[in-house]
Amino acid sequence: MRCCYCLEHAGWWRRCCRACRRLLDVYLAHRGADMATILDCLVATGVPQHTIERFLDADPNGRGSVRDRIAADMTNQLLEALGQRPRQSVADVQRIRKRGGWTALDHRPRE
Ligand SMILES: [Zn+2]
Repeated sequence: MRCCYCLEHAGWWRRCCRACRRLLDVYLAHRGADMATILDCLVATGVPQHTIERFLDADPNGRGSVRDRIAADMTNQLLEALGQRPRQSVADVQRIRKRGGWTALDHRPRE
């Protein structure tokens, strides 16, 4: 079977290859951390960069890519710190990304 993240050969009856399993463990252990911290931790696993990139862009469950989920977690932590109820979903992140508002992170996305 092919790995559901990086699409490399994962072995019989495995949805996920060994490298991506490690990346997933690191990501889950650091949920809510900022993107740079999580990226550092992913790189520290020794998994090749192109596999990390594929892992981040993968969307095996159709619930948004790992990258968008990290962004949603990050935003919710920030809103919580500001006393707002967390409510940024992965779908919101995808919508904002598609709108192209993130070319300037310090500006409001255009409606
Ligand atoms: Zn993989």
